[in-house]
Amino acid sequence: MEDLKFKHCKDSSEEAPLPTDIDRQKSLEKNRSPDKGLLRCLIDALGDLIYIKDRDGVYRGCNKASENFVGLTEAEQIGKTDFDFFDEDMAEVIRKIDREVLASGREYHVEEWITRPDGRRVLLDSRKTPFYGPDGEVAGIVGISRDITERKQAEEALKEANRELEAFTYTVSHDLRTPLVPIVGYSDFLRENYRERLDEQALECLSEISKSGEKMLALMEDLLSLATVRKLDPPAEPVDAAEVANEVVSGLSGQLCLAGVEVEVGDLPALRVPKTLLVQVFDNLILNAIKYGCKRGDTIEVGGERRGERVTFYVRDHGPGIPVDERESIFDVFSRGITGQDQEGTGIGLATIQKIARLLGGRAWVEETPGGGSTFRVEMVDIPVSPPGK
Ligand code: ADP
Repeated sequence: MEDLKFKHCKDSSEEAPLPTDIDRQKSLEKNRSPDKGLLRCLIDALGDLIYIKDRDGVYRGCNKASENFVGLTEAEQIGKTDFDFFDEDMAEVIRKIDREVLASGREYHVEEWITRPDGRRVLLDSRKTPFYGPDGEVAGIVGISRDITERKQAEEALKEANRELEAFTYTVSHDLRTPLVPIVGYSDFLRENYRERLDEQALECLSEISKSGEKMLALMEDLLSLATVRKLDPPAEPVDAAEVANEVVSGLSGQLCLAGVEVEVGDLPALRVPKTLLVQVFDNLILNAIKYGCKRGDTIEVGGERRGERVTFYVRDHGPGIPVDERESIFDVFSRGITGQDQEGTGIGLATIQKIARLLGGRAWVEETPGGGSTFRVEMVDIPVSPPGK
């Protein structure tokens, strides 16, 4: 049986060299180690299914994992087709993919749900590669398939848990906000309208209630914006990022004026990402730069560059900068840095930016500005416009 298998493997590799590799294959054949069993052991030790089919979909060989999958030995599989192992619909689907590989002459990477002969449904991650005969024509396909059912189920469970967590955060932050508004409102009302009838201690208590309520409201607002960041459909046309940044700067003119700070918006690449997400990025970063990174008379610079489909924006200040050991942690939820010690804040802004960057296929990080200060960078992947009809 072992001999038969080797004879078969040898046959298929003799028939299989790529047109450009024929000479190399021949020399390999000449120098082939006499211990072919070692190679076979290696192939059989792999957990992935490996199989060879000819142009007509007839099995020419397979490894141990394939034997276990189908429930037949290699010798029993040779000479048969998928129609002998799977139900007709399933075999048709497999055959269709195989035909596409044969016709295109290119490697295909597909995820296919397969019902095994024992009735279990599994998701296979398969790479199917054509091999060539000595005449240079495609002679069949070599397939390598990995059972990714468990991994997929775990991914789905994780996604579901994340969805539930986001829904929970949304509900909690939204519903807790509602009773907070009158708490803050009534304590302010009492302080203003009953000032004469209340003693010093009562007024102080009311002031504390109001301050804590305001703090909690800010926390709820920030949690709400973190929870509501989600994947949105890309716009039909590229968004002019410079226009977006300038709109954000106009919206912050009050704070900028109060702080005596200016913003310089450079040339920013246009790209197809949802405008609302870009607004959140610029708004958060410029506000942080005003709050933590500027003194009166400073200028904040906003810029960006494109490298292929990757676009990176930056917001740069010349303030105190961020200590090296905080440069990663400040992107975690509720994490605040040393520069935030004397300021109110929730520690959610940068986590929201990181979430947006990841949703858009990139990441966010901070570097030191040459000469001192912080340069926050946010990378995202531009979504190319698909050609008509796609
Ligand atoms: P928050 O501003 O509510 O604290 P963020 O997540 O936006 O939350 O920021 C986290 C921390 O990062 C801040 O507390 C601050 O210490 C630091 N930080 C952010 N931006 C800057 C900046 N431009 N310069 C210096 N420190 C900054």
